[in-house]
Amino acid sequence: MLFMEIAKMLIVKPLAFDSFGVRSMATFVATEDIAVLIDPGVSLASSRYKLPPHPIEEQRLSETWADIKEHATRSDVLIVTHYHYDHYDPEEPEIYKDKIVYLKHPKESINKSQAKRASYFLDKLNGMPKSLDIADGMVFKHGSTAIKFSSPVFHGTNSKLGYVVEVSISCSGEKLVFSSDVEGPAVDDQVEFIIQEDPDIVILDGPMTYMLGFRYSYKSLALSIANIKRIIKDTSVKCIMVEHHFMRDLKYKERIAEVYEYAAEKDVKVITAAEYIGREIDILEARRKELFK
Ligand SMILES: [Zn+2]
Ligand SMILES: [Zn+2]
Repeated sequence: MLFMEIAKMLIVKPLAFDSFGVRSMATFVATEDIAVLIDPGVSLASSRYKLPPHPIEEQRLSETWADIKEHATRSDVLIVTHYHYDHYDPEEPEIYKDKIVYLKHPKESINKSQAKRASYFLDKLNGMPKSLDIADGMVFKHGSTAIKFSSPVFHGTNSKLGYVVEVSISCSGEKLVFSSDVEGPAVDDQVEFIIQEDPDIVILDGPMTYMLGFRYSYKSLALSIANIKRIIKDTSVKCIMVEHHFMRDLKYKERIAEVYEYAAEKDVKVITAAEYIGREIDILEARRKELFK
């Protein structure tokens, strides 16, 4: 529980992450004013090493989804940063009932597949939330808490997979930035928002190194390393959770060895969400071959 004390006014509780054995970045944040749930969704890779999810992964999925739903009932605000099923679930819209909901714009800066999913999801929500606002580039105040969203940034290194919004939550001088699916950050816009916000804690979707050399370039990895070092150098960040796409690679540590060294020099923690809450790292998807033996 050591790392959870980094911020005193912001309670940051990772609920489901790749370091827990599922695909998700679901995060609960409580301030003195409100409770916020970012990206209430969780999924599994339908195929990895040409293998389907292992029963242990299915089990973890149902445990984490139950925990997400339980935290949804305790939340005032629900946020969806983009329309991929590891970030929201259109088939259980009840969790949004009577909530303040902030959504990635369903029609602008979006690719075809996500626009289609967004429209389906909005139909499902159909008047259930207490309020519904488009998040892109907006700031919402709740007492002394501010929830700020970036302009849309690439999902990954280009627009092919669409766009996401990054989220900043601050209260009483403490701040968290949640990057959503930036896969890096390898792109300037993605890292600029984080640096401008000058957070204490960053939850970052790290470089997608399990696809290194085919769907993720060595150049993108180099840019991501340089950008994470910039975040360490140019902000007062104390803890960066490097997660999601990054934690699908058994060799994750050696991929960004340079970052760990630099962070240690600057006394910044670079860890996983599991470590942040004092839980064992349990990356299941990357170990699927071994699990099926
Ligand atoms: Zn995504
Ligand atoms: Zn994702």
